[in-house]
Amino acid sequence: MFQKILIANRGEIACRIIATARRMGLATVAVYSEADAHARHVALADESVAIGGPAPRDSYLRGDAIIAAAQATGAQAIHPGYGFLSENPDFVDAVEAAGLTFIGPSAKAIRAMGLKDAAKRLMSEAGVPVVPGYHGDNQDPEHLAGAAEAIGWPVLIKAVAGGGGKGMRKVTRAEDFAAALDSAKGEAATAFGNDAVLIEKYVEKPRHIEVQVFGDGSDAVHLFERDCSLQRRHQKVIEEAPAPGMPAEMRAAMGEAAVRAARAIGYKGAGTIEFIVDASDGLRADRFWFMEMNTRLQVEHPVTEAITGVDLVEWQIRVAAGEALPVRQDQLAIKGHAFEARLYAEDVPAGFLPATGTLAHLAFPEGARADTGVRTGDTISPWYDPMIAKVIVHGPTREVALQKLSRALAETQVAGTVTNLGFLGALARHPGFAAGDVDTGLIERDLDALVSDPAPSAGVRAAALLASAGLTARPALGFTLWAPLARRLAVRQGDEVTEGLLTLDAEGPRITVEGECLVPPALPVVQAGGLIHVFDKGACHSFAPVDPLAREASGGAAGNATLSPMPGLVKAVFVAPGQAVAAGDRLAILEAMKMEHTLTAARDGVVAEVLVTPGTQVEAGAALILLEAETAEVAA
Ligand code: ADP
Repeated sequence: MFQKILIANRGEIACRIIATARRMGLATVAVYSEADAHARHVALADESVAIGGPAPRDSYLRGDAIIAAAQATGAQAIHPGYGFLSENPDFVDAVEAAGLTFIGPSAKAIRAMGLKDAAKRLMSEAGVPVVPGYHGDNQDPEHLAGAAEAIGWPVLIKAVAGGGGKGMRKVTRAEDFAAALDSAKGEAATAFGNDAVLIEKYVEKPRHIEVQVFGDGSDAVHLFERDCSLQRRHQKVIEEAPAPGMPAEMRAAMGEAAVRAARAIGYKGAGTIEFIVDASDGLRADRFWFMEMNTRLQVEHPVTEAITGVDLVEWQIRVAAGEALPVRQDQLAIKGHAFEARLYAEDVPAGFLPATGTLAHLAFPEGARADTGVRTGDTISPWYDPMIAKVIVHGPTREVALQKLSRALAETQVAGTVTNLGFLGALARHPGFAAGDVDTGLIERDLDALVSDPAPSAGVRAAALLASAGLTARPALGFTLWAPLARRLAVRQGDEVTEGLLTLDAEGPRITVEGECLVPPALPVVQAGGLIHVFDKGACHSFAPVDPLAREASGGAAGNATLSPMPGLVKAVFVAPGQAVAAGDRLAILEAMKMEHTLTAARDGVVAEVLVTPGTQVEAGAALILLEAETAEVAA
């Protein structure tokens, strides 16, 4: 067994690998880019080595720098995680040439599965069912059109070097084929430097069901299936194990086919055989076909760990160290049901745009496994995938596990960036999903209902108002007052100001909002970054406290300068040098944490200098606008 391993990755997967290594008594070495110097995976590892700039090609994709880091620290093996160098056979060769062990399959196995067309040919020779289609070398457009005609419409054009859904086009009619082929080839050439395509039968009502395999080079087992049918634009959103509605006969057939595939290439380590399933007539043992093999650990591996009790990373390390498979197939069984939801920093109503931000607050509930690479105070940077965490739950039945998922999502708290928590929560409550009636088109069909952005309820606003007064919904017992207290309060969300009247008597606080008198609900509230964050059913509603007597919040002012109260983006500037302003006049609008803050003049004066323009990104405390010194005004 190794004494020390290096993890050639970042984020949640690096942290997850370190946790297992530590449990096994191994020392760990992290590598990091300049953007990740203070990242969680660096803090967790025993040692760490800087390997370059923030762009992946300057750090996490630099095989030479990573191998040098392993040699310098005396690590004997390298775990690649997923993504980055994990499926790069040249890196595997280089690791081995340096006398180190790659914790993963051989370069040969990765090469065999690297191109979709060659992998399909190999699999059909091994007797694994593959999607009917053409995966030959003849790329002549006429020939491909003829192949599509022979397969029957609709067909799917796929880049042989494809990944992430790129270079893929569905074609339903012969007359659209030529144009679709052109655009698929163009996209494939740009993305992969290889414009070769294959043509497949388009499977109706498709389900994506994949089988986890594990080999030690001489034998292989499978650890059952995962259903990854809940996808948006071919990206997985929620995964589960086992697949809902899976008949025992089909499970056995898929497991056997997957093991046959792994054995055919003498597979060593963790791998996934992805199948596409035609669910138009329920799940049937003759309706699944090989799509591709991923020769690495998958993002969604925790659901398999949850139902089998196996630590897949431990197995990876043991097999890489030369041990045989720890168990036989008949010692593996499915226990209960598991779900994983991928929590992202993204702006769902704006079309799932990736978001960035500093996490003012991050907390996960008890009773769920949260695999994360970030902590409160960490930044989701634009350099990497904006995943915040994977939330994984396990229960004795699918129904119980799904309820746990709903609850875990509702109780997850993220402030400081927009997230897809509300969307995940809506999916977890989707009746079709609850019934197990999943397919890869479910999300797109019901998108409108799933992405609604809930406005804060009166209760949420009351909780924010109460917090702005420094109070919580549960005052200390035995609380007495000389006289009932009444106080006006206000908070702001975007342009919208909520005003309320706080009254306190022996029974506790009440807030009157828009004529309605409420006992503020005991929702979790966190104050961070100058804002009040109220968490309600997975949504984070952020408010700025407002002085109710001065409805326009003024920015901080220091001497003659108007300062930015928080980091943000300047949206508008209303004044120009030489312009006279009166105290309280609007000077600029700052957008921070999805809200607009109006910055006003602290006193009467004349604008001396405008230091920003719309679009400027500013730090907290940055000077935005300077007024002429007051003495100058007096002199004039
Ligand atoms: P990539 O490697 O680009 O991710 P895949 O071959 O893994 O591409 O396919 C991605 C997704 O596209 C699948 O999960 C499935 O939703 C859909 N898909 C792939 N092949 C077919 C097919 N023949 N018919 C229908 N949908 C398909």
